[in-house]
Amino acid sequence: MGKVCVIHYSEIGLKGRNRPFFERKLVENVKRVLKGVWDVRIERLQGRLVFPVDNADLQRIVESVKSVFGVSWFAFASVSEPTVDSIKKTVLEEASKIVAGGDALKVEVKRADKSFPITSIELSKILGEVLVKNLGVKISLKNPSKKIYVEILKREAYVFTERIRGPGGLPVGSSGRVLSLISGGIDSPVASYLMMKRGCEVHYIHFHPFYDNSEAENSKVMEIVRKLLPYSGRTTVTFIPSYEFQMATVNIPAKYDLVLFRRFMFKVAERIAEAEGAKALVTGESLAQVASQTLDNIVAISIGLKMPVFRPLIGYDKEEIIALANKIGTYELSIKPYRDCCSIIARHPETRARPEVVKELEDKINMDSIVEKSIKLSSRVVVE
Ligand code: ATP
Ligand code: MG
Repeated sequence: MGKVCVIHYSEIGLKGRNRPFFERKLVENVKRVLKGVWDVRIERLQGRLVFPVDNADLQRIVESVKSVFGVSWFAFASVSEPTVDSIKKTVLEEASKIVAGGDALKVEVKRADKSFPITSIELSKILGEVLVKNLGVKISLKNPSKKIYVEILKREAYVFTERIRGPGGLPVGSSGRVLSLISGGIDSPVASYLMMKRGCEVHYIHFHPFYDNSEAENSKVMEIVRKLLPYSGRTTVTFIPSYEFQMATVNIPAKYDLVLFRRFMFKVAERIAEAEGAKALVTGESLAQVASQTLDNIVAISIGLKMPVFRPLIGYDKEEIIALANKIGTYELSIKPYRDCCSIIARHPETRARPEVVKELEDKINMDSIVEKSIKLSSRVVVE
């Protein structure tokens, strides 16, 4: 009866009356990654997504579905009639493809359709006996070397031998939009990824030291954004030159440069977020990792902001962040050389910025007008 891909989701199954909304987002996102790979109709069937995969390139489907947040696990299954006899036959066929002498098997049966005449345990016993008799294998419930899975739905049953892990989390777009400050360093791509994992649509803003936006538009920042595209889906990057800020701050104490620059970034980012329909900002800050991220400085930098700033890495060690960056594939790009804005900042920055000094300096340089001028110099690139 052919083969299907069965996709299981975790948390979204728990969302009660919102479940159809989460399911639809998940379907949309799976369709997006499969575009050009395998364009088929995806059904929502009794708490899972199902689509046919006969003649498909299964490896490409695996690679695509693996980047869709909200997917807990998925499997390629053989379809059978939802009857004991038909399931027996399919289980035997599937098992014979994977077992070798000496294997200890376990059959796991799940009924999504409780009207099926016998219980899951009864059916797994029957199927186990069939396997022992026909394939000469043993059954081990505690320590199996291989497993055979059976799922029974109303219309059909699925039999498969491998569960492939998805990335977990929630479907991108189910939690609203945020604007991520992306630097080209190691941390901010990881922070962006974690927000996507919680269902956020992540758009980006990048500040650069060049005279011309096009130089930043052709930099590794775009490579990083593209690397995250399978997770993020369609997104935008806004580029902002930092020279207006630099010109205005040549005469202020160098040790306050860093804190003021970060406030400048947040103020601009809030305005761009508003324009992009984003409700919060995201950074890759991790507490006390560098001078700008001491508790005092994070406090001084955040005073007076209108939008919440999410810092998903605040409690992460650098090693943990690097491990994640490697996993999602951004690390190699992040360590490529790049002229970061921060290289223009003083060598010995203030680590305990005083809010009243910050306020005084901002008045002096007329921060609001620097923000205004810089926004006028911005460019915006759509990535899809
Ligand atoms: P990262 O590896 O993400 O660059 P970092 O450890 O170098 O972080 P900082 O340079 O202090 O730390 O930056 C902290 C956060 O501020 C970054 O994670 C990023 O969210 C934001 N940020 C820093 N520089 C820029 C920039 N040029 N454009 C946009 N955001 C930036
Ligand atoms: Mg940095």
